[in-house]
Amino acid sequence: MDRIGVLMLCPMLTYLEEELKKRFKLYRLWDASSQNDFLRGNCDSIRAVVGNAAFGADSELIESLPKLEIVSSYSVGLDKIDLVKCRERGIRVTNTPDVLTDDVADAAIGLTLAILRRICVCDQFVRSGLWKNRDFELTAKFSGKSVGIVGLGRIGTAIAKRAEAFGCPISYYSRSKKPIANFKFYSNIVDLASNCQILIVACALTEETRHIVNREVIDALGPKGILINIGRGPHVDEPELVSALLEGRLGGAGLDVFEKEPEVPEQLFGLKNVVLLPHVGSDTVETCKAMADLVLRNLEAHFLNKPLLTPVI
Ligand code: NAP
Repeated sequence: MDRIGVLMLCPMLTYLEEELKKRFKLYRLWDASSQNDFLRGNCDSIRAVVGNAAFGADSELIESLPKLEIVSSYSVGLDKIDLVKCRERGIRVTNTPDVLTDDVADAAIGLTLAILRRICVCDQFVRSGLWKNRDFELTAKFSGKSVGIVGLGRIGTAIAKRAEAFGCPISYYSRSKKPIANFKFYSNIVDLASNCQILIVACALTEETRHIVNREVIDALGPKGILINIGRGPHVDEPELVSALLEGRLGGAGLDVFEKEPEVPEQLFGLKNVVLLPHVGSDTVETCKAMADLVLRNLEAHFLNKPLLTPVI
């Protein structure tokens, strides 16, 4: 397979890049001074694209690659891939489900604890020597608080199981009601937000879920409510979130993802009821290796005419 051209769209795990290089003829799009010239010059050699949560195969890229057969994404989210165009052209698509579920769910619980127990603020309190002058103020309890989950898929369910272990009643909003008796289903997100203390966003990003957390949802969650977003930045109307936090209309927010990453609204930097992560929900050594192995095994399967491991299309 060493003559098969595979295009990586951006730097990813070094292990993935090295293993791709061992198996295929690897092209690195970010090396090109002009990406258009690069694509024009190599378009007949590239048969596979490897993207991630930030860089995917959009319609322009797909149109520029007439020999493209497969897009293997180093992510579970598919929002950066033009799936309609892939279907039209018969291009296969794979992602990396399941292997990252535990880490992202852990990150959601970590953010929730960090907000309620003010872990980052406490850490700063100790490091700055303030503890020598006074005790830290009281924080808020997590165990037993009601948790609402937007999108009870793989990650949403893993978050629910963790929160259940903290004694939290679980409710959710998804496209479909699940046969899980102890989780309460709401058929709209405003009702969910009105009836929980912590709202965790874990759904897929699509045209329907863009800005699913808008002013109405934030106001339903209210001044004591906590918003956690480990889905995608555009799930939340960010200017509305910022003003709600600045005006005290929302109790706090734990955010792993943002609308225009790596740009983060600077008004959030001074707020102690906010914890900000640089989109690291699945970024552990163990999980990133497992994701890279899935990308590699999907590509190998495709070019050996074997069934794909995690096909989307
Ligand atoms: P999944 O199993 O496919 O779950 C997606 C969920 O989204 C499903 O529950 C689905 O509802 C729900 N959904 C889709 N469209 C909806 C709509 N219009 N309204 C309400 N709910 C809707 O995917 P997953 O593996 O759990 O991953 C979920 C998302 O997490 C990914 O798409 C990705 O964006 C994000 N993610 C983030 C990180 C990070 O680093 N922060 C890492 C990995 C993934 P139904 O159950 O009713 O179909």
